[in-house]
Amino acid sequence: PTAQAPKRIKALDQDVVNKIAAGEIIVAPVHALKELIENAVDAGSTSLEILVKDGGLKLLQITDNGHGINRDDLPILCERFTTSKLKTFEDLTTIGTYGFRGEALASISHIAHLTITTKTVESSCAWRAHYADGKLAPAKPGQSTDPKPTAGRGGTQITVEDLFYNVPSRQKAFKSPSEEYAKILDVVGRYAVHCGGVAFSCKKHGDSSISLSTSKDASRVDSIRLIHGSAVANELISFEVSDQNLGFTASGYASNANYHVKKTTILLFINHRSVESSAIKKALEQTYSTFLPKGGHPFIYLSLDIDPQRVDVNVHPTKREVNFLNEDEIIEAIRTEIRIKLSEVDTSRTFMTQS
Ligand code: ADP
Ligand code: MG
Repeated sequence: PTAQAPKRIKALDQDVVNKIAAGEIIVAPVHALKELIENAVDAGSTSLEILVKDGGLKLLQITDNGHGINRDDLPILCERFTTSKLKTFEDLTTIGTYGFRGEALASISHIAHLTITTKTVESSCAWRAHYADGKLAPAKPGQSTDPKPTAGRGGTQITVEDLFYNVPSRQKAFKSPSEEYAKILDVVGRYAVHCGGVAFSCKKHGDSSISLSTSKDASRVDSIRLIHGSAVANELISFEVSDQNLGFTASGYASNANYHVKKTTILLFINHRSVESSAIKKALEQTYSTFLPKGGHPFIYLSLDIDPQRVDVNVHPTKREVNFLNEDEIIEAIRTEIRIKLSEVDTSRTFMTQS
């Protein structure tokens, strides 16, 4: 029998490619929200209001009071790799942020209905635009795609509706809106602790009360108290450590030996982006094991600024784990500092109970 003729090779439709890319960047509503929070903070906002319906699958809305977006930029805003934060490849090595690739809004526009209302200081009115598949779209079929003038405050409101409406496999993956909402609250809480000078609020659509609300004048410990409770906020030690040769500064708050819970909480920010690092978590848990009873775990807020040239900037957005140079040495320096602070508290406590 003759071999079957091979099927011809064809390029995937650009639309399909974009949808695949979007689905890789945004796996759950919380990933879209995290990008939107970072954009709002990058825009110099001091107030961020978040509204969520059905765990973010029906509606994710974020309203900020930042610098807004120029009307003339609206047509290309949601194209892939359009950004105001990066101009040349060289910038990649010096930029201090992760969300620099201009992919967030593009991705969202491929897998949700996206509406943006924005006003800059210079503009006499706000502009509203709808997006689909990276491009301006009409509000209703047949209407013009041009942004429309509208009344509005200074800043930007981003409305994401029906996330994953065209990705049926993703839709099925979400069994519990309340689980997704819990993840959203967790991320909002992290940024609320980290971003001093920014007020955060997060509300579930239809709820009369706000789930989380912090004021812009709150101290970091105040925010921790509000979100994580007084039991931990009353038992925090502050720490700071830096090393020029290793190119880092680390600061934060860690619970002392009087406090322990069943599971470790680490609020980790590297260059002002909330990230995860199992290496840091493991090392810190080990440090605490000598101070806490068996099975007891700490609370740690850690903000790590690393010379951007030493962070792996090519880390893909889906990789929530981050890599950086001299990771072991930097972690060791942080552990040592926390260990010293913990022993100080420990000895003063022993001293007090003895006297
Ligand atoms: P990136 O943040 O990597 O630049 P995004 O797709 O997240 O890419 O955003 C694209 C651009 O849209 C940003 O560079 C910024 O200029 C603008 N932008 C997005 N969100 C806001 C916002 N809330 N306020 C002002 N500008 C924004
Ligand atoms: Mg962004």
